[in-house]
Amino acid sequence: MADPHALVTGANRGIGLALVQQLLASGHRVVATCRQPGRATMLNPLAGEYPGRLHVLPLDVAEPKSHTELVRELPLVLGEDDDGAPGRLDLLVNNAGVLHSGERFGSLTAANFDDSFRTNALGPLLLAQALAPLLADGARIVNLSSRLGAISLAERFGTPSYNMSKAALNMATVLLARALEDRGIVAIAISPGWVRTDMGGEDAEVAVEDAAAGILGVAAKLGAGDSGRFVDWRGQSVPW
Ligand code: NDP
Repeated sequence: MADPHALVTGANRGIGLALVQQLLASGHRVVATCRQPGRATMLNPLAGEYPGRLHVLPLDVAEPKSHTELVRELPLVLGEDDDGAPGRLDLLVNNAGVLHSGERFGSLTAANFDDSFRTNALGPLLLAQALAPLLADGARIVNLSSRLGAISLAERFGTPSYNMSKAALNMATVLLARALEDRGIVAIAISPGWVRTDMGGEDAEVAVEDAAAGILGVAAKLGAGDSGRFVDWRGQSVPW
């Protein structure tokens, strides 16, 4: 059987890059997408290490036109499976995300919300819709959410554009699960923990390699009954 094919968004740094490294090491073929492939100085050298197994393609998740361009290019990259049928994606990781820090009640403006919703919530939903014909039946969709998107855990005022967009992503995940269940496709929202990346900062609790390994471990064990769940990187349920 051909090696599974994964697509990761926001793959040039942080959790996305660690996911790509680990997926390649575990035998996946990977489509790594990022806004500016020409500047992906960590990602591009990997293509030399894994010839023919890693393709780096441009994608701005906040721009539906960019989704269309990706969908046009992907069949060339996915090739054909062992039976000569068009290749399909077995795993889609909607990892790209943005956090506007420093928001204060009293000076909120629409711009951060526009950006956060387009990137963190609408982007993953529309991308999954655009890629649906290229997903294998039984594929997995993993949406990088956050405990900050859990309404029941909101104890203080902070980063509202981020928190609200991740709450919207959680709803998008449940709806995606419903939309694709007939094809056996499982969609989950996952909280990666507080991770040492540009977004999480250097004081964060979890090393990026551990977060990535946890996410991929959860993804590998998903069954049909998990679709629409919100879990953490150790597989524990997170309240909505
Ligand atoms: P980073 O800030 O380190 O990296 C974010 C990535 O997303 C970058 O590759 C960035 O690309 C990409 N990105 C942002 N906007 C877009 C866009 N419009 N189109 C394509 N790519 C985009 O974040 P992390 O690696 O820490 O986070 C990854 C995911 O995990 C995010 O969804 C985040 O919300 C989530 N998460 C992270 C936590 C943490 O503690 N780190 C905690 C909870 C959730 P570019 O380099 O071009 O800016």
